[in-house]
Amino acid sequence: MNCQNGIAALTTSGKSVLHAQSQFYKTEPVDYKDQDWFINAVVKIGTSSDPFQLLNELKSIEGEAGRTKTIRFGPRILDLDILLYDDVVIDNISGLSVPHARMHQRRFVLRPMCDIAPELVHPVLKKDMQYLLNHLDDNEQKIIQFK
Ligand code: ADP
Ligand code: MG
Repeated sequence: MNCQNGIAALTTSGKSVLHAQSQFYKTEPVDYKDQDWFINAVVKIGTSSDPFQLLNELKSIEGEAGRTKTIRFGPRILDLDILLYDDVVIDNISGLSVPHARMHQRRFVLRPMCDIAPELVHPVLKKDMQYLLNHLDDNEQKIIQFK
């Protein structure tokens, strides 16, 4: 599965270790409904990379996944995002925003996040992940735990 390969690739560089992993979820596409459902998960890693280095590493992992699979499965093979990085706040520096700008609006982020870190506090909104999930206003985006 692309997600499992992507998670595995995070640690093979030797710069990051995996601390926790959510369940996998199948989620309804938000914008373009006429496509397959997505698979989402959230992981907690410890890393020696700073957020900018980490973003570059994520992009190169996405690139490697895309090179082998793009033709057969379409463009969104793998999407790796930085959701939070400790309490660091980066407001669009070199195109990077941390916390991820839309994470608090997305059930497909908050639901798996709450598997591993329900009490983690969003450093800008000052609310924990469980609170943000409980107070989502998204017409109950469909999400199915499958693994
Ligand atoms: P999305 O993840 O929002 O669906 P993309 O994966 O295409 O969309 O990301 C678009 C750009 O967003 C990336 O090229 C990246 O530079 C930028 N970006 C800004 N903040 C983040 C973040 N926290 N994590 C990942 N990408 C980010
Ligand atoms: Mg992305």
